[in-house]
Amino acid sequence: MMTTRTISQTSESRRQFLQLAVFGAGAAALSTVLIGKARAADLPHLTLDDATAKALGYVEDTTKVDAAKYPNHTPAQDCAACSFYQGTAGSEYGPCTLFPGKAVHSKGWCSGFVAKPA
Ligand code: SF4
Repeated sequence: MMTTRTISQTSESRRQFLQLAVFGAGAAALSTVLIGKARAADLPHLTLDDATAKALGYVEDTTKVDAAKYPNHTPAQDCAACSFYQGTAGSEYGPCTLFPGKAVHSKGWCSGFVAKPA
């Protein structure tokens, strides 16, 4: 009887431990997502005078791209449609993996554009 009670108590402790572990992991994942979104919103906007932005012909409005300089550009190409854009759907600005630490305009464009897979 004593042994059964001890096993039962051990099982209960193990169950409580597992519940806490699952809750802790969920809370950690949620806080990582929330912090990531807050950081993305806080990123400074990429400026047109940034050296890399200039080199890649970045503009904040894809309709303003120099067609003579970038003949393969089309107005349908913008940051929101680019594989490198990390912003959430509908956001005005978002991170771009080509410009770490900066946010680019969702309607912007640069010559690094790569269409998202259909
Ligand atoms: Fe926009 Fe893509 Fe250029 Fe980044 S790489 S600035 S998302 S077009």
